[in-house]
Amino acid sequence: MKDLIKDSAPTEAPQGQAAEPSGGQARALTTPAQFVAAGLADPVDAAALGQVAAEFKLRMSPEMARAVAAPGDGVARQFVPEVAELTIRPEELADPIGDDAHAPVPGLTHRYPDRVILHATKTCEVYCRFCFRREVVGEEGALPEAEMAAALDYVAATPAVREVILTGGDPLTLSPRRLASVMARLGAIPHLDVIRFHTRVPVVAPEKVTPDLLAAMESDKAVWLVVHTNHAQELTEAAQAALRRLVAAGIPLLSQTVLLRGINDDPDTLEALFRALIRAKVKPYYLHHCDLAKGTGHFRTTIARGQAIMTALRARLSGMALPAYVLDIPGGYGKVPIGPDYLLRAADGLWQVRDPKGDLHRYADPSAPLG
Ligand SMILES: *Cc1c(COP(=O)(O)O)cnc(C)c1O
Ligand code: SF4
Repeated sequence: MKDLIKDSAPTEAPQGQAAEPSGGQARALTTPAQFVAAGLADPVDAAALGQVAAEFKLRMSPEMARAVAAPGDGVARQFVPEVAELTIRPEELADPIGDDAHAPVPGLTHRYPDRVILHATKTCEVYCRFCFRREVVGEEGALPEAEMAAALDYVAATPAVREVILTGGDPLTLSPRRLASVMARLGAIPHLDVIRFHTRVPVVAPEKVTPDLLAAMESDKAVWLVVHTNHAQELTEAAQAALRRLVAAGIPLLSQTVLLRGINDDPDTLEALFRALIRAKVKPYYLHHCDLAKGTGHFRTTIARGQAIMTALRARLSGMALPAYVLDIPGGYGKVPIGPDYLLRAADGLWQVRDPKGDLHRYADPSAPLG
């Protein structure tokens, strides 16, 4: 097990990448002092940030440190610790989306009949300050082999499961060797159709998308990848190249984005992100309303604002570029779209449909009474 943990830890100075990238840090930032030295955190906050670090692990990858254009910008705030994280609001929860309520065996969440989430590791290349799993990530690396075996046994014994979502932590922090072993075992389960990766690696640590890693991701099953990205500025040249390597490997790409106050909660910022994703052949899939994780209140905006942004984007962007705006209902009740609604009931029982400009139009179903 010790071996597995070591094996899955992110490489501090990845081989194959220039050891001293131009004008940036070659190593991940993991302590308040390093964030201060990099000019990203204020020295006067150092003591309080020590408290934050004791609570929630710190890590900003070299690629993301290089992507910062100015301290406090939309990339920096995702990874640089803030004193505000020490404020826990009464509505905030240790398990905001109720993963634990649906865990038949450790490391596995089975909430929807046809798909499960496999928490392959607790390690990430970055520790996002708003992470909905911040209470569990960063702890101890890869799922121990005995638990992995039990999770795979559960999937093999549950024919209703058609899709396994590898998440974490970040499943692409596993070594190619360990990942290939998991993929081989999943590939041998006859009732599985899809293996899906939820990852930030292609964007935050693109140098890790190596030929070995791509080979490890191969399967006779349909392999899909959902990349987590929140701001167009994260999609650096290197990140775009990593996405191209995934496309070339035949993997369909989707994205998920967290709606974050002051980072991307305006139509212009999200339009730039979704256009950049479409250019990179990534279909925007979900825009998540920020979950009620502890110490993340400063990142959360209102559902009304999220809906107004989505309305504005529908008037500007192709349908391909629009994600569904979703909320994971606290308590483990599942993810649902939260609008905006384009279809309303009129007083006479017929439908009214809102067009992208906001004007209402009547619509009669074939079976509806003539009105
Ligand atoms: C988000 C989630 C999924 C995947 O949901 P999709 O809508 O298929 O993307 C599956 N299981 C759990 C527990 C989840 O939280
Ligand atoms: S990469 Fe994902 S799991 Fe890891 S800290 Fe960020 S949001 Fe959380």
